[in-house]
Amino acid sequence: MDHKLRLRVLAGNLAGHRITQLLITHLPNIRYLCGFTGSAGALLLGGAEPVFFTDGRYTAQAKAEVQGARVVIEAKSPLVTAAAWLKKTRRNGALGIEAEHLTVAAEARLRSALPKRLRLHAVSGMVERQRMVKDAAEIERIRRAVQLGSSLFLPAARTIRPGVPEALVAAKLEYAARRAGAEAMAFTTIVAGGARSALPHGHASAAPIPTQGFVVLDFGVILCGYCSDMTRTVCVGSPTSQQRAWYAAVLEAQLAGIASVRPGATAGDVDDATRKVLKKNKLSKWFTHSTGHGVGLEIHEAPRLAAGQTEVLRPGMVITIEPGIYVPGQGGIRIEDMVVVTETGCEVLTSGTKELIAI
Ligand code: ZN
Ligand code: ZN
Repeated sequence: MDHKLRLRVLAGNLAGHRITQLLITHLPNIRYLCGFTGSAGALLLGGAEPVFFTDGRYTAQAKAEVQGARVVIEAKSPLVTAAAWLKKTRRNGALGIEAEHLTVAAEARLRSALPKRLRLHAVSGMVERQRMVKDAAEIERIRRAVQLGSSLFLPAARTIRPGVPEALVAAKLEYAARRAGAEAMAFTTIVAGGARSALPHGHASAAPIPTQGFVVLDFGVILCGYCSDMTRTVCVGSPTSQQRAWYAAVLEAQLAGIASVRPGATAGDVDDATRKVLKKNKLSKWFTHSTGHGVGLEIHEAPRLAAGQTEVLRPGMVITIEPGIYVPGQGGIRIEDMVVVTETGCEVLTSGTKELIAI
């Protein structure tokens, strides 16, 4: 991971945001920029060299992990340490803070600890924009996470049968993930059967898998810090002709979404492509979320693939394509793959069949 390059690129963007320094407090952004994986830290850019602040619990870890920044360790909270540092080094101008990630209380604390000559200036998404396009080392890690994630689907599908609690299906999937080397799950595993499959984010519950109907499985792992995200929908019992038609429409929409991914297309174009297919099948009113999202160090990152989003896709972006339909009281279907945008289109990273599996 070329942390020094990342820090240099970000430092070069400060003037464009009318700030003289930037205090980064969002941990995934800190990890991206300097490699620190702990749970307390702040990173300051804009002086002669980047400075990373943490507390005594992380002395050894910061020494081992942090690259491209000087490390300052104090017993106080990293935010307070950073404020004291800014005071001591007589900084002035505008200090950028991450609007999306600093609480009101933390901002007040920071403001009261800073010298008056330093103005606070809220900035949005500066590091997140940089993180949107993944470098080769990141894509390699994501590829491995996705491979591990993909390998979990068929064994998990085999644990699904009528009467088995959704939570047990999830538990077995998560156990298999850890055994295969996952650091953690990327989010709370979704196993939603029967009418519950119509809940787009139906966390695995104590409810038993019904004798007939769809089961949505949405799960992801973290490997070397990077997330995977995958959804498959299976059918318990033999699918009715309507269930087959619905499934075929969602799959067609998902494939149309993948086919629309190329450099120069906008995030909104990809959403249009999936929605158009569901509209043609008179199912678009049941498609109640956006088509996808970026994935990386976090499970939900920029860009957002939703109607009207003008973000232009570029090679190296890693996104999900996950249209779905949710018919209240009846059931839902979602199919989700991760793809990486290439020079000419995209490469699907997720493996595993998307044909309708009847259990
Ligand atoms: Zn998902
Ligand atoms: Zn997703």
